[in-house]
Amino acid sequence: MIRYSLACVGEHEFEAWFSDSQAYDRQRKRKLVECPTCGSTEVHKQIMAPTVRSSDRAVPAEIAAAKVAAEIREHIATTHDYVGDSFASEARAMYYGEAEHRPVWGEVTPDEAKELVEEGVPALPLPKPFAPAPPRRRAKLN
Ligand SMILES: [Zn+2]
Repeated sequence: MIRYSLACVGEHEFEAWFSDSQAYDRQRKRKLVECPTCGSTEVHKQIMAPTVRSSDRAVPAEIAAAKVAAEIREHIATTHDYVGDSFASEARAMYYGEAEHRPVWGEVTPDEAKELVEEGVPALPLPKPFAPAPPRRRAKLN
C-alpha cells in the first residue's frame, strides 16, 4: 500500500491509498480518483508519503506497521460506505455504469472475488489488519 497526498484543480488537498503507483496512474486515468470536497477527478500528486518509515528511523517496524494499519482502517471507515455482503453487486453496478461511483467496502466470498477479478472490476483485497470493524447492520431497505 502506498499513500499519496493529492490535490484537485480546485487545490483541495486530500489523501488516498493505492496498492502501488501503477494503481494510482490507472485509477486516475479512468477518473476513479475523486476529490472528496468537490468531486473533481482532475487530481495531481503532492509530495509522496510512503507508508513505512525507512529503517534508519527509531520506530520499530511493527509499531510503524500497526500505525499504518490503524490509519488505513480509519481512512476506509471514514471515507468509504460499508455495503457488507452487497460489495460484489455494488462494485459491479458501478463498473458497468449502472450506479454512480462512490468508495465502498464490504465482504465478498472467494468465488465473488475471483469473478470480480475476471471481469476487471476494480476492487482491492483488504488484508485483515487494514479492514475496519464493520458498522452495525443497516436496516433492510425492502
Ligand atoms: Zn476539489
